[in-house]
Amino acid sequence: PRLANQIAAGEVVERPASVVKELLENSLDAGATSLELDVEQGGVKLIRIRDDGDGIEKDDLALALSRHATSKILELEDLEAVCSLGFRGEALASISSVSRLTLTSRQKDAANAWQVTTEGRDMQAEVSPAAHPKGTTLEVRDLFFNTPARRKFLRTENTEFKHLEEVVKRLALSRFDVAFQLRHNGRVIHQLRPARSQPERERRVASVCGPQFIQQSLSVDVVAESSGISLRGWIGLPTFSRSQADLQYFFVNGRMIRDKVVTHAVRQAYADVLYHGRHPAYVLYLELDPALVDVNVHPTKHEVRFRESRLVHDFIYRSIHRVIGDVRP
Ligand code: ADP
Ligand code: MG
Repeated sequence: PRLANQIAAGEVVERPASVVKELLENSLDAGATSLELDVEQGGVKLIRIRDDGDGIEKDDLALALSRHATSKILELEDLEAVCSLGFRGEALASISSVSRLTLTSRQKDAANAWQVTTEGRDMQAEVSPAAHPKGTTLEVRDLFFNTPARRKFLRTENTEFKHLEEVVKRLALSRFDVAFQLRHNGRVIHQLRPARSQPERERRVASVCGPQFIQQSLSVDVVAESSGISLRGWIGLPTFSRSQADLQYFFVNGRMIRDKVVTHAVRQAYADVLYHGRHPAYVLYLELDPALVDVNVHPTKHEVRFRESRLVHDFIYRSIHRVIGDVRP
């Protein structure tokens, strides 16, 4: 099973950023409202995520690290209605097969926390008592220490950190209700309080995307009463357009996606009203009936398929057109 895990790890765990994505999604699935992330050396030496979620029962600790031990699918039909972010039950097994992992967790009414450690191949079976407030801490050290071939594919510390930070930014922009802290080599990089009001949300977007973005953007708030589709968020003014498509965040029902229909619709509306050649910057949230989208079940892709892609395209196009039409030079 370890080998199977390492093979699976090749799919799920590509680099530190993929570990962070899986761990943060698990924490959010567990209802966490505060996430503290500490990384060292771009995440290769250490990734530690502490949450205040529901925690894991003592008897389930070792199980959580074994393949296909998911607590998230009870019935096969649930696959149809997957709403939690993770549902495959192999992320932790995969990560633990290629790192030194310590899992510490405490449930609300437990007398104390429990901890289990694995070192790549050898899983230390016993679970020992530990000190920890309600919630879970996952510590992943020395990623790929036992798979040198994979380790070779890692880029510089700085590049790995940028990828990892991008994962945090996406989640921070999708969950305003959750507090995030990210530290790299002991230095605080992001410190984000829960944002409820619109000004608080704007402050979060400013600290994630840079204050210039919020200063030089228009807010979008369009609802199509008939179809129940809405588009909200911020789109950068032409003064803030980019030479690269590097500040484009689009969320569909709370989930960050990359999609040609969407990219085209926004870009087209922007180009029609303003000028060609530059990329719009945006943070946009599309909400629509979940029955109208297929979320791709591949763990690492951010893809969706719209059942009515024409309708979605036109709605996005018209919404953006309307908002930025007012600033036509
Ligand atoms: P999946 O998320 O697909 O179920 P994982 O391997 O990511 O599989 O996690 C295995 C199980 O471990 C989860 O189903 C969950 O029960 C438990 N788990 C993992 N991380 C956490 C966490 N931070 N808080 C509570 N439970 C967790
Ligand atoms: Mg998971």
